[in-house]
Formats: sequence, C-alpha cells, structure tokens
Amino acid sequence: MPVPATVGYIPPVSTAEQAPDPVRDPWRQAMRLAVREARLAAEGGDVPVGAVVLAPDGTTVLASGHNEREATGDPTAHAEVLAIRRAAAALGEWRLTGCTLVVTLEPCTMCAGALVQSRVDRVVYGARDEKAGAAGSLWDVVRDRRLNHRPEVIEGVLADECAQQLTSFFRDR
Ligand SMILES: [Zn+2]
Repeated sequence: MPVPATVGYIPPVSTAEQAPDPVRDPWRQAMRLAVREARLAAEGGDVPVGAVVLAPDGTTVLASGHNEREATGDPTAHAEVLAIRRAAAALGEWRLTGCTLVVTLEPCTMCAGALVQSRVDRVVYGARDEKAGAAGSLWDVVRDRRLNHRPEVIEGVLADECAQQLTSFFRDR
C-alpha cells in the first residue's frame, strides 16, 4: 500500500478490501481515537492534529491531546506535547517508558524532541509532513543515532484518512 507523500495528497477513493498489514493494523484503533481528537482541534479553529498516548499494554489510553495553538495562544500547544504532558501527569513521572504515542501527522522538530525526552518506546503516525516532518521526512530526529534514546517509528497508519482531514481543513478555510 503506497503511503501518501504529502499532507496535500488526496488519495483515490477505493472500496476494495485492503490486504492485512501486521505492522500497522494493531494501531488502527488508537489512530481512530487520534483522528477523533483532531476533530476537536478543527472545531476550535486549530489545524486538525490529534494524539493519544497508550500505556505499555498498547491499548489503554493514558492521555490525549489536540492542537490548541489558536485556542490557547501557546506556540508549543501541539497535540503531541499536550498528550505527553498529560500522560506524564497521569503516571506521576516524566518517563513514559514502554508507552506509545499515536498522532495523526508526522511530528515536527519540537514534538520529535519532546518524544525523545519523554522516553516513549514508540511513535506511530498517520500522514507524512514533507514540509516540516521530523520523524522521517525532512529530518529524522527520533531516530538520530547521535541521541541515546531512539523510539521505534511506525508511519502510514490510516494515512489517507489523516491526510484528508488536513486537506479538507485547509480547503474549507
Ligand atoms: Zn509539533
């Protein structure tokens, strides 16, 4: 299955059953929650990006967050940063060892840095961000070999749906 190259990519409409994908399929349900979270951002006039942090069991949602830059006037209020902060608060410590962050759009440099700092085990994202992505597109901060913590990265989970959510937001503005 081809992964959309950019946020602006509009996938062809297909009703065909997709082949099973053992790498991405386990994260689809969590990504649906992130997509739902992203809708809350759009309702407040923010770019629709949503994130959830899963506990080490891979299914329990510890925290969620959506982009709140416009809503709060805080330039650091990205979905990932808010979700990481809330997950750490829920756990009572800053280390999110064993946890997975699931986000609809490839993290930017700030969020990639925050993810490394949080010690999450895994970063799962939907659409690529060719213009600002820091988890494989423009940079690969999360897997930089010079850093001592490198989370696993799984990209392209519900990528079409995530990209379309962004595309329609910018189209309707
Ligand atoms: Zn970010």
